[in-house]
Amino acid sequence: MSTKDYLEKDYYKVLGVSKNASQDEIKKAYRKLAQQYHPDRNKGDADAEERFKEVSEANSVLADEKRRKEYDQVRSMPSGFRGAGGGQGGGFGFDLGDLFGQGGGPAGGGGAGGAGDRIGDIFGGLFNRGGTRTGAGTRRARRGADVETEVTLSFGRAMNGVTVPLKLTSEAACPTCHGTGAKAGTTPRVCPNCEGTGQETRNLGNFGFSEPCHICHGRGLVVDDPCATCHGSGRATGTRTIQARIPAGVADGQKIRLKGKGAPGENGGPSGDLYVNIKVTPHPVFGRSGDNLTLAVPVTFPEAALGAEIKVPTFQGQPVTLRIPEGTPNGRTFRVRGRGAPRRDGTKGDLLVTVDVQVPGKLDDQTRAALEALRGSGEGDDLRSEVLQQAREE
Ligand SMILES: [Zn+2]
Ligand SMILES: [Zn+2]
Repeated sequence: MSTKDYLEKDYYKVLGVSKNASQDEIKKAYRKLAQQYHPDRNKGDADAEERFKEVSEANSVLADEKRRKEYDQVRSMPSGFRGAGGGQGGGFGFDLGDLFGQGGGPAGGGGAGGAGDRIGDIFGGLFNRGGTRTGAGTRRARRGADVETEVTLSFGRAMNGVTVPLKLTSEAACPTCHGTGAKAGTTPRVCPNCEGTGQETRNLGNFGFSEPCHICHGRGLVVDDPCATCHGSGRATGTRTIQARIPAGVADGQKIRLKGKGAPGENGGPSGDLYVNIKVTPHPVFGRSGDNLTLAVPVTFPEAALGAEIKVPTFQGQPVTLRIPEGTPNGRTFRVRGRGAPRRDGTKGDLLVTVDVQVPGKLDDQTRAALEALRGSGEGDDLRSEVLQQAREE
């Protein structure tokens, strides 16, 4: 009887008892079936003979408490360890890629002479813990990691949207050892300190703290003969290039989430997401305020005081005429609708035009005379009376 038999045969079913059956129940069930299928009572009946053999075999395991325990442990192993057969004399054939959750091909398993013993070690470790494995080696589907990167765009490309190639580096299984971390022909063994859980418990007074095992650093496995490429980590840095679609209207400092473009998942798990931090180089004239574009335009003092129609540029469009009303103060902002940054819904923000009233530098005679006349009009004589008044308040 081999371990392979243990994996393939359900002795409880053969005897028609539950997994929790007492030794007594097993004995009774066996006696009844053994009588029923006994060759003396079923001469020439090949089926009965076959059943009799099965019943005997099941009984020889389940009636022996030690062997029953072994059998239960083998049967409770996760399916990842049970799938591939081909083992002889208690050995197993299995894919190390599955064992270590890296999705790589078989590496070194069953090859060199020493490997068999080490595989035995792995299972030995499993059996110590009743066959349940919760550590790093389970064949669980795992979502890939989220990846973050940065991209710098010109103002125009950010406004119009662009597809940019992004070169991403992410962790992958080492190509030499397929993620086991072990030199070719050798196999990692279950960490003796944490028995493969990757965790150890430290007791502080009444409290127990679980922390990553200090021997295997949480991996649950130790490597005696490290792979020369990855120095035993089992990990390598892989590079891939993806085409990332950056939507129109992104602004400096924005973070774009590209679903499923992060690190690939393990064992059929979904990929993580890619976060792209957007940097936008400033434009010489236009700025951004949310969905709006901002623009400062110089106007002369007479234009601001008397009112004017001025021509202002729009981003990537024809200039528009903006009417400045009489008595416009410096710094007032006017809104040109629909000439801002594109929004998600296809509409656009506005263009916010702020007037910047210019003080004439060099004065010709005519300008000087005009300004002298303005001063003589008495306009602005009490301009500062209020601030002088308020300054006295405590
Ligand atoms: Zn450990
Ligand atoms: Zn390696």
